[in-house]
Amino acid sequence: MLYEFRYLAPKTASELLSLMDSEGPDCRLLAGGTDLIPNIRVGVFKPKLLIDVKRHAGADRLSYGNEGLSIGPAVTINDVLGSREIREKYPVLCKCAHELASHQVRNRATVVGNVVNASPCSDMAPALLCLDAQAVLRSKNGCRTVTFRDFFTGVKKTVLTQGEYLESIKIPIASAGSTGRYFKLKRIAGHDLGIVGVLMTIKDGQRRFAVSSAAPTPILVDNIAAKDSPEEIVAKVLGAVSPISDVRGTKEYREHMIGVYVRRLLGEVK
Ligand SMILES: Cc1cc2nc3c(=O)[nH]c(=O)nc-3n(C[C@H](O)[C@H](O)[C@H](O)COP(=O)(O)OP(=O)(O)OC[C@H]3O[C@@H](n4cnc5c(N)ncnc54)[C@H](O)[C@@H]3O)c2cc1C
Repeated sequence: MLYEFRYLAPKTASELLSLMDSEGPDCRLLAGGTDLIPNIRVGVFKPKLLIDVKRHAGADRLSYGNEGLSIGPAVTINDVLGSREIREKYPVLCKCAHELASHQVRNRATVVGNVVNASPCSDMAPALLCLDAQAVLRSKNGCRTVTFRDFFTGVKKTVLTQGEYLESIKIPIASAGSTGRYFKLKRIAGHDLGIVGVLMTIKDGQRRFAVSSAAPTPILVDNIAAKDSPEEIVAKVLGAVSPISDVRGTKEYREHMIGVYVRRLLGEVK
Protein backbone atom coordinates (compact mmCIF):
# COMPACT_ATOMS: atom_id res chain seq x y z
CA MET A 1 0.00 0.00 0.00
CA LEU A 2 1.29 3.46 -0.89
CA TYR A 3 1.39 6.17 1.76
CA GLU A 4 1.80 9.91 1.37
CA PHE A 5 5.16 11.32 0.39
CA ARG A 6 6.33 14.53 -1.20
CA TYR A 7 7.66 14.67 -4.77
CA LEU A 8 10.10 17.25 -6.13
CA ALA A 9 11.71 17.52 -9.56
CA PRO A 10 14.79 19.77 -9.39
CA LYS A 11 15.69 21.65 -12.55
CA THR A 12 19.46 21.63 -11.97
CA ALA A 13 21.97 19.09 -10.68
CA SER A 14 23.09 21.48 -7.92
CA GLU A 15 19.49 21.90 -6.74
CA LEU A 16 19.21 18.10 -6.65
CA LEU A 17 22.39 17.84 -4.52
CA SER A 18 21.18 20.53 -2.09
CA LEU A 19 17.87 18.71 -1.66
CA MET A 20 19.64 15.40 -1.03
CA ASP A 21 21.83 17.14 1.52
CA SER A 22 19.02 18.87 3.39
CA GLU A 23 16.63 15.85 3.41
CA GLY A 24 19.28 13.24 4.31
CA PRO A 25 18.15 9.59 4.52
CA ASP A 26 14.44 10.58 4.41
CA CYS A 27 14.62 11.09 0.64
CA ARG A 28 15.09 8.69 -2.26
CA LEU A 29 15.92 9.35 -5.87
CA LEU A 30 13.33 8.44 -8.48
CA ALA A 31 14.32 7.50 -12.02
CA GLY A 32 11.84 5.25 -13.89
CA GLY A 33 10.40 3.96 -10.63
CA THR A 34 10.15 0.35 -11.87
CA ASP A 35 12.19 -0.91 -8.91
CA LEU A 36 11.54 1.91 -6.44
CA ILE A 37 7.74 2.08 -6.55
CA PRO A 38 7.21 -1.69 -6.03
CA ASN A 39 9.68 -1.46 -3.12
CA ILE A 40 7.73 1.44 -1.60
CA ARG A 41 4.48 -0.50 -2.05
CA VAL A 42 5.77 -3.46 -0.05
CA GLY A 43 7.39 -1.27 2.60
CA VAL A 44 11.07 -1.91 1.83
CA PHE A 45 11.56 1.86 1.53
CA LYS A 46 9.52 4.53 3.33
CA PRO A 47 10.85 7.82 1.96
CA LYS A 48 9.25 11.12 2.98
CA LEU A 49 10.42 12.73 -0.26
CA LEU A 50 11.03 11.42 -3.78
CA ILE A 51 13.50 13.49 -5.80
CA ASP A 52 13.08 12.99 -9.53
CA VAL A 53 16.45 12.68 -11.30
CA LYS A 54 14.96 12.91 -14.80
CA ARG A 55 14.04 16.59 -15.00
CA HIS A 56 17.29 18.51 -14.71
CA ALA A 57 19.19 19.73 -17.75
CA GLY A 58 21.38 17.04 -19.29
CA ALA A 59 19.86 14.15 -17.32
CA ASP A 60 18.71 12.42 -20.51
CA ARG A 61 22.02 12.95 -22.34
CA LEU A 62 23.28 9.96 -24.28
CA SER A 63 26.40 11.03 -26.11
CA TYR A 64 29.27 9.40 -27.97
CA GLY A 65 32.57 11.22 -28.61
CA ASN A 66 36.37 10.95 -28.45
CA GLU A 67 36.26 9.69 -24.87
CA GLY A 68 33.55 7.10 -25.49
CA LEU A 69 29.92 6.83 -24.41
CA SER A 70 28.22 8.82 -21.66
CA ILE A 71 24.83 7.72 -20.26
CA GLY A 72 22.89 10.20 -18.11
CA PRO A 73 20.60 9.23 -15.20
CA ALA A 74 17.38 9.61 -17.21
CA VAL A 75 18.48 7.47 -20.19
CA THR A 76 16.07 4.58 -20.53
CA ILE A 77 16.70 1.05 -21.73
CA ASN A 78 14.70 1.82 -24.88
CA ASP A 79 16.90 4.92 -25.47
CA VAL A 80 19.88 2.54 -25.54
CA LEU A 81 18.11 0.19 -27.94
CA GLY A 82 17.20 3.14 -30.18
CA SER A 83 20.72 4.54 -30.45
CA ARG A 84 22.46 3.86 -33.77
CA GLU A 85 25.85 4.67 -32.23
CA ILE A 86 25.37 2.14 -29.44
CA ARG A 87 24.23 -0.52 -31.89
CA GLU A 88 27.37 0.09 -33.97
CA LYS A 89 30.03 0.72 -31.28
CA TYR A 90 28.76 -1.14 -28.21
CA PRO A 91 26.37 -3.80 -29.59
CA VAL A 92 26.50 -5.95 -26.44
CA LEU A 93 24.77 -3.16 -24.52
CA CYS A 94 21.79 -3.66 -26.84
CA LYS A 95 21.98 -7.45 -26.52
CA CYS A 96 21.59 -7.14 -22.74
CA ALA A 97 19.07 -4.26 -22.92
CA HIS A 98 16.85 -6.32 -25.18
CA GLU A 99 16.61 -9.03 -22.50
CA LEU A 100 15.47 -6.61 -19.76
CA ALA A 101 11.76 -6.95 -18.98
CA SER A 102 9.17 -5.92 -21.59
CA HIS A 103 8.99 -3.04 -24.07
CA GLN A 104 6.65 -1.18 -21.71
CA VAL A 105 9.00 -1.51 -18.71
CA ARG A 106 12.02 -0.60 -20.87
CA ASN A 107 10.26 2.66 -21.78
CA ARG A 108 10.57 3.82 -18.17
CA ALA A 109 13.44 1.78 -16.73
CA THR A 110 16.81 3.53 -16.79
CA VAL A 111 20.29 2.04 -17.09
CA VAL A 112 21.36 3.97 -13.98
CA GLY A 113 18.36 2.73 -11.96
CA ASN A 114 19.18 -0.83 -13.00
CA VAL A 115 22.72 -0.70 -11.62
CA VAL A 116 21.87 1.28 -8.47
CA ASN A 117 19.22 -1.32 -7.67
CA ALA A 118 22.15 -3.78 -7.76
CA SER A 119 20.16 -6.95 -8.17
CA PRO A 120 22.30 -10.03 -8.83
CA CYS A 121 20.07 -10.61 -11.87
CA SER A 122 20.61 -7.14 -13.37
CA ASP A 123 20.66 -7.48 -17.15
CA MET A 124 22.69 -4.32 -17.82
CA ALA A 125 25.51 -5.13 -15.39
CA PRO A 126 27.07 -7.90 -17.53
CA ALA A 127 27.55 -5.53 -20.48
CA LEU A 128 28.86 -2.71 -18.29
CA LEU A 129 31.33 -5.08 -16.60
CA CYS A 130 32.68 -6.50 -19.86
CA LEU A 131 32.97 -3.01 -21.41
CA ASP A 132 34.99 -1.62 -18.45
CA ALA A 133 32.30 0.98 -17.76
CA GLN A 134 32.64 3.43 -14.90
CA ALA A 135 30.10 5.07 -12.60
CA VAL A 136 30.54 8.79 -11.99
CA LEU A 137 29.27 9.53 -8.47
CA ARG A 138 28.59 13.07 -7.32
CA SER A 139 27.88 14.55 -3.90
CA LYS A 140 28.08 18.08 -2.53
CA ASN A 141 31.71 17.28 -1.63
CA GLY A 142 32.74 16.51 -5.22
CA CYS A 143 32.93 13.71 -7.71
CA ARG A 144 34.53 10.25 -7.83
CA THR A 145 34.69 7.57 -10.47
CA VAL A 146 34.31 3.86 -9.71
CA THR A 147 34.59 0.95 -12.15
CA PHE A 148 31.63 -1.42 -12.19
CA ARG A 149 34.02 -4.15 -11.10
CA ASP A 150 34.16 -2.29 -7.75
CA PHE A 151 30.68 -0.74 -7.78
CA PHE A 152 28.60 -3.72 -6.60
CA THR A 153 29.32 -4.79 -3.02
CA GLY A 154 26.54 -7.30 -2.29
CA VAL A 155 22.90 -8.19 -2.97
CA LYS A 156 21.24 -4.78 -3.62
CA LYS A 157 24.36 -3.05 -2.26
CA THR A 158 26.74 -0.62 -3.96
CA VAL A 159 29.54 1.75 -3.01
CA LEU A 160 27.12 4.73 -3.15
CA THR A 161 27.11 6.60 0.15
CA GLN A 162 24.48 8.88 1.72
CA GLY A 163 24.28 12.12 -0.25
CA GLU A 164 25.81 10.66 -3.44
CA TYR A 165 24.00 10.15 -6.71
CA LEU A 166 25.03 8.40 -9.90
CA GLU A 167 25.51 11.28 -12.28
CA SER A 168 26.51 9.29 -15.38
CA ILE A 169 27.91 6.04 -16.70
CA LYS A 170 31.00 6.26 -18.93
CA ILE A 171 32.08 3.55 -21.33
CA PRO A 172 35.60 4.06 -22.66
CA ILE A 173 36.37 4.43 -26.35
CA ALA A 174 38.80 1.51 -25.95
CA SER A 175 35.80 -0.79 -25.48
CA ALA A 176 34.11 0.30 -28.71
CA GLY A 177 33.97 -2.53 -31.23
CA SER A 178 33.64 -5.21 -28.59
CA THR A 179 31.13 -7.77 -29.88
CA GLY A 180 29.40 -10.70 -28.23
CA ARG A 181 26.22 -12.42 -27.20
CA TYR A 182 24.10 -12.72 -24.05
CA PHE A 183 22.16 -15.83 -23.10
CA LYS A 184 19.52 -15.43 -20.40
CA LEU A 185 17.72 -18.44 -19.01
CA LYS A 186 14.14 -17.70 -17.91
CA ARG A 187 11.24 -19.71 -16.54
CA ILE A 188 8.96 -18.51 -19.34
CA ALA A 189 9.50 -17.52 -22.97
CA GLY A 190 8.22 -13.97 -22.32
CA HIS A 191 9.76 -11.38 -20.05
CA ASP A 192 11.07 -12.69 -16.74
CA LEU A 193 13.95 -12.24 -14.33
CA GLY A 194 16.89 -14.47 -15.19
CA ILE A 195 17.60 -17.87 -13.65
CA VAL A 196 21.08 -17.26 -14.97
CA GLY A 197 22.59 -14.97 -17.60
CA VAL A 198 25.93 -15.32 -19.38
CA LEU A 199 27.50 -12.67 -21.63
CA MET A 200 30.62 -13.30 -23.67
CA THR A 201 32.43 -10.44 -25.37
CA ILE A 202 35.38 -10.53 -27.73
CA LYS A 203 37.68 -7.68 -28.70
CA ASP A 204 41.07 -8.06 -30.42
CA GLY A 205 40.90 -11.81 -29.73
CA GLN A 206 40.45 -11.24 -25.98
CA ARG A 207 37.41 -13.04 -24.56
CA ARG A 208 35.56 -11.98 -21.43
CA PHE A 209 32.53 -13.34 -19.63
CA ALA A 210 30.06 -11.74 -17.25
CA VAL A 211 27.48 -13.77 -15.35
CA SER A 212 24.27 -12.61 -13.67
CA SER A 213 22.04 -14.41 -11.13
CA ALA A 214 24.90 -16.64 -10.03
CA ALA A 215 26.49 -14.79 -7.08
CA PRO A 216 25.59 -11.94 -4.68
CA THR A 217 26.72 -9.51 -7.41
CA PRO A 218 27.04 -9.78 -11.19
CA ILE A 219 30.49 -11.28 -11.88
CA LEU A 220 33.18 -10.42 -14.45
CA VAL A 221 35.57 -13.19 -15.58
CA ASP A 222 38.44 -11.60 -17.47
CA ASN A 223 41.29 -14.05 -16.88
CA ILE A 224 40.71 -16.04 -20.08
CA ALA A 225 43.90 -16.81 -22.02
CA ALA A 226 43.94 -17.37 -25.78
CA LYS A 227 45.32 -20.91 -25.26
CA ASP A 228 42.61 -21.95 -22.76
CA SER A 229 40.51 -24.93 -23.86
CA PRO A 230 36.69 -24.72 -23.62
CA GLU A 231 36.74 -26.91 -20.51
CA GLU A 232 39.38 -24.71 -18.88
CA ILE A 233 37.23 -21.66 -19.63
CA VAL A 234 34.10 -23.33 -18.20
CA ALA A 235 36.14 -24.14 -15.06
CA LYS A 236 37.31 -20.53 -14.76
CA VAL A 237 33.78 -19.16 -15.08
CA LEU A 238 32.33 -21.70 -12.62
CA GLY A 239 35.21 -20.95 -10.24
CA ALA A 240 34.23 -17.28 -10.17
CA VAL A 241 30.52 -17.72 -9.35
CA SER A 242 28.69 -19.00 -6.26
CA PRO A 243 25.07 -19.67 -7.24
CA ILE A 244 22.39 -20.46 -4.69
CA SER A 245 19.18 -22.50 -4.89
CA ASP A 246 16.01 -20.40 -4.82
CA VAL A 247 12.48 -20.28 -6.25
CA ARG A 248 13.83 -19.77 -9.76
CA GLY A 249 16.28 -22.67 -9.87
CA THR A 250 18.74 -24.84 -7.96
CA LYS A 251 22.44 -24.19 -7.56
CA GLU A 252 23.17 -27.36 -9.60
CA TYR A 253 20.85 -26.29 -12.45
CA ARG A 254 22.45 -22.84 -12.55
CA GLU A 255 25.97 -24.33 -12.64
CA HIS A 256 24.97 -26.76 -15.36
CA MET A 257 23.41 -24.03 -17.51
CA ILE A 258 26.40 -21.71 -17.07
CA GLY A 259 28.56 -24.50 -18.51
CA VAL A 260 26.12 -25.06 -21.39
CA TYR A 261 26.03 -21.33 -22.21
CA VAL A 262 29.80 -20.84 -21.99
CA ARG A 263 30.43 -23.74 -24.40
CA ARG A 264 27.70 -22.48 -26.74
CA LEU A 265 29.09 -18.94 -26.70
CA LEU A 266 32.61 -20.18 -27.42
CA GLY A 267 31.24 -22.01 -30.46
CA GLU A 268 29.08 -19.14 -31.73
CA VAL A 269 30.97 -15.90 -30.98
CA LYS A 270 34.12 -15.55 -33.11
C1 LIG B 1 7.72 -6.15 -14.42
C2 LIG B 1 9.18 -5.88 -14.20
C3 LIG B 1 10.11 -6.67 -14.87
C4 LIG B 1 11.47 -6.45 -14.69
N1 LIG B 1 12.35 -7.24 -15.39
C5 LIG B 1 13.67 -7.00 -15.26
C6 LIG B 1 14.60 -7.79 -16.02
O1 LIG B 1 14.23 -8.66 -16.80
N2 LIG B 1 15.92 -7.51 -15.85
C7 LIG B 1 16.38 -6.55 -14.99
O2 LIG B 1 17.59 -6.35 -14.90
N3 LIG B 1 15.51 -5.80 -14.27
C8 LIG B 1 14.18 -6.00 -14.39
N4 LIG B 1 13.28 -5.25 -13.67
C9 LIG B 1 13.80 -4.25 -12.72
C10 LIG B 1 13.83 -2.80 -13.22
O3 LIG B 1 12.94 -2.57 -14.28
C11 LIG B 1 15.23 -2.37 -13.66
O4 LIG B 1 16.17 -2.60 -12.62
C12 LIG B 1 15.26 -0.89 -14.05
O5 LIG B 1 16.35 -0.68 -14.92
C13 LIG B 1 15.34 0.09 -12.88
O6 LIG B 1 15.43 1.41 -13.39
P1 LIG B 1 14.44 2.58 -12.91
O7 LIG B 1 14.81 3.77 -13.72
O8 LIG B 1 13.03 2.15 -12.95
O9 LIG B 1 14.94 2.76 -11.41
P2 LIG B 1 14.13 3.28 -10.13
O10 LIG B 1 13.14 2.27 -9.71
O11 LIG B 1 13.65 4.68 -10.33
O12 LIG B 1 15.35 3.33 -9.10
C14 LIG B 1 16.03 2.15 -8.71
C15 LIG B 1 16.94 2.51 -7.51
O13 LIG B 1 17.97 3.38 -7.93
C16 LIG B 1 17.94 4.61 -7.18
N5 LIG B 1 18.33 5.64 -8.14
C17 LIG B 1 17.73 5.95 -9.30
N6 LIG B 1 18.46 6.85 -9.98
C18 LIG B 1 19.55 7.11 -9.23
C19 LIG B 1 20.70 7.96 -9.39
N7 LIG B 1 20.89 8.71 -10.50
N8 LIG B 1 21.65 7.97 -8.42
C20 LIG B 1 21.50 7.20 -7.31
N9 LIG B 1 20.43 6.40 -7.09
C21 LIG B 1 19.47 6.35 -8.04
C22 LIG B 1 16.52 4.73 -6.65
O14 LIG B 1 16.44 5.51 -5.47
C23 LIG B 1 16.20 3.25 -6.39
O15 LIG B 1 16.76 2.84 -5.15
C24 LIG B 1 11.91 -5.43 -13.81
C25 LIG B 1 10.98 -4.63 -13.14
C26 LIG B 1 9.63 -4.86 -13.33
C27 LIG B 1 8.64 -3.98 -12.61
